[in-house]
Amino acid sequence: MHLNTSYYRNGTLEFDKLFTRQNVTEEVLERQADSKNEIARQKLMLSGKMPDIAIGPWCSDPYECDFMCHCWKDVPEDSVFDLAGKGVDTFKLYNQGVEKLKDIPLDLLKGNQLQQVETARSKKNVVNPKQLREFLDTLRYPLYFLDFETFMDAIPPYDGMKPFQHVPFQYSLHWQKKAGGTLYHTEYFAKPGVDPRKEIAERLLKDIPEGACVLAYWKSFEAGRIKELAELFPNKRKRLLSIVDNMVDLIDPFKARDLYSWKQKGSHSIKAVLPAFVKGMTYEDMEIGDGSAAMEAYHQMCDCADKPKELAKVRKNMLEYCKQDTLAMVRLLEVIEKMSAK
Ligand code: SF4
Repeated sequence: MHLNTSYYRNGTLEFDKLFTRQNVTEEVLERQADSKNEIARQKLMLSGKMPDIAIGPWCSDPYECDFMCHCWKDVPEDSVFDLAGKGVDTFKLYNQGVEKLKDIPLDLLKGNQLQQVETARSKKNVVNPKQLREFLDTLRYPLYFLDFETFMDAIPPYDGMKPFQHVPFQYSLHWQKKAGGTLYHTEYFAKPGVDPRKEIAERLLKDIPEGACVLAYWKSFEAGRIKELAELFPNKRKRLLSIVDNMVDLIDPFKARDLYSWKQKGSHSIKAVLPAFVKGMTYEDMEIGDGSAAMEAYHQMCDCADKPKELAKVRKNMLEYCKQDTLAMVRLLEVIEKMSAK
């Protein structure tokens, strides 16, 4: 384990290198006197009637309130709050009686928001075949579909890292030698608790041939991780950066709304796009269904290194989740190909 030597000594975290000590006893004593009054105030409030407060931006800003399932129970499906983007006061509309997305007056909207409401009304997809063909023209075969999973910690675990820097510990890679050809798959999963950066860089270079076209969904994330690896390993820098240079973003046609389904509810996230276009493919029933859950699962694996059964189960779920992400890209590309021929 290559711990960040700047913060550890003999495997033990040196807290004084991360935090400064400050005596706050006086401030605490000053405030202690107020605590009694505050507790009395809270008790009085709790013994009274439930406050009648309307829902508003405060329900989710800065954090989602735990009472939303109660206060928002009358908000219908496909409500005005599904409107993506900024510029329209959806709470004002709701309080004026406009509860459903499809009922938002069109003259209040423009651009993507107008398109979202129009398609919610018509239940029709937007397809721009010419632009989809132009996107397809940017791809070359063999074509690789790449997705990373990462973790990040407040305390940088390894040398040369910043707090909350993403560390890639897993990837899934599908590839095809020609359009519509056999689909191949490989994957990498680091040993939990071990610095994965060198091994993952080496495996990437082994698995992705030089000059190959690589698709990622929201490529800045994958490209960012590869650039960090390139900085860390100067002898691999050129080859790693060439992967970045040959990356194409599969989100582009969806972001440009050259392909848009009303079911996406204005989102371009792969979690929204996939079920909108690929029947039967969803993340909903997966044990691990998003990047945060994968991050949590990785930490869980680090903690249960001596429990092989538990370890194997989490590992299997993690591999399934990451594989689903690249398979989703393969299926979405097939949808783009089909729609481009319309
Ligand atoms: S959801 Fe929370 S913040 Fe929103 S009205 Fe209810 S209690 Fe207040």
